[in-house]
Amino acid sequence: MPPSTILGYAARAVGQPLEPFTYEPPQLGEHDVRVSVTHCGVCHTDIHAIDDYYGITTYPFVPGHEIVGYVSAVGREASGLKEGDRVGIGWQGRSCMRCEWCLKGEEQLCMDIVQSGTWVPYGGFSSSVIVDSRFAYPLPEAMPSQVAAVLMCAGVTVYSPLRSYAAHPSPKIGIVGVGGLGHLAIQFARVLGYEVTAISSSPEKKEEALAFGADHFIVSDDRTGMRQVLFGFDLLLCTVSGRIDWELLVNTLKKNGRLVLLGFPDVVLNSTDLVAHQLSITGSFIGNRARMREMLSFAQAHGITPAVELMPMSRVNEALQRVRENKARYRIVLVNDTVGVGI
Ligand SMILES: [Zn+2]
Ligand SMILES: [Zn+2]
Repeated sequence: MPPSTILGYAARAVGQPLEPFTYEPPQLGEHDVRVSVTHCGVCHTDIHAIDDYYGITTYPFVPGHEIVGYVSAVGREASGLKEGDRVGIGWQGRSCMRCEWCLKGEEQLCMDIVQSGTWVPYGGFSSSVIVDSRFAYPLPEAMPSQVAAVLMCAGVTVYSPLRSYAAHPSPKIGIVGVGGLGHLAIQFARVLGYEVTAISSSPEKKEEALAFGADHFIVSDDRTGMRQVLFGFDLLLCTVSGRIDWELLVNTLKKNGRLVLLGFPDVVLNSTDLVAHQLSITGSFIGNRARMREMLSFAQAHGITPAVELMPMSRVNEALQRVRENKARYRIVLVNDTVGVGI
């Protein structure tokens, strides 16, 4: 392999296991940086994209968007970063910087969002990635790299709606799903002053949910337990995908309450509940650049700590399988062992 080649792990077709894949680094744009990857978290979205759930995946596809690494090359106009800086990169690696949303500082809503993913052209299960320097975030010095990696997608994804929708000084929240997103949402919500109820299909997660900071824990198919929180929550944060008993769940919202979707569940709702109780349903997607910087310093100041399993990147398929089977506790971070092989 030529010394200038990047080594990644790619799916060659829908749903296939990843295979080693090498590519020539694309030319650095004037605002770009190349980042040598040391750590990369495994997110459910990586699996959805391998499976082409969103209908936008091009193959060979290199997943990976919870990245920490060191800047190894800098474009002409890439201000604020220099070679050797440690940075974090999340789902978004660039944006058009011209559309109305980018101009408003809501880059996560860029009209060109499909081409703005860190996966384009290839993601972080690699020796290096190339992104716009404005989406590579310097990290607090004391923050361990595996912690920062998970915060880059899971962290900002839960932090952003918790900040946007805290209605009054002591809001009550139901966090649905205690997994990669949910276990972080519990920690952030507690520090932000919410009274937190964790709702999970797995009774065995109770002790850990309480240890992460939940005030209460309910098993989602325990109809008696769910009925006890009828009209109980200002906000429901739904971090899971798959099937949900929507009627039972939505009835736990107070009047004027809000359901925020972070995962991609099948949604079937009774319009009578929505109308009669004036409920809102909101999707929430990652966060903008300002939120990302704010989240990193907030997490550092308050000791927000994801529970991480470390695995070598060469065992990426094993890691993906654990995530597919919901066995990760609570996030797997791949440690790059391709260093010295690809650039
Ligand atoms: Zn993600
Ligand atoms: Zn834009």
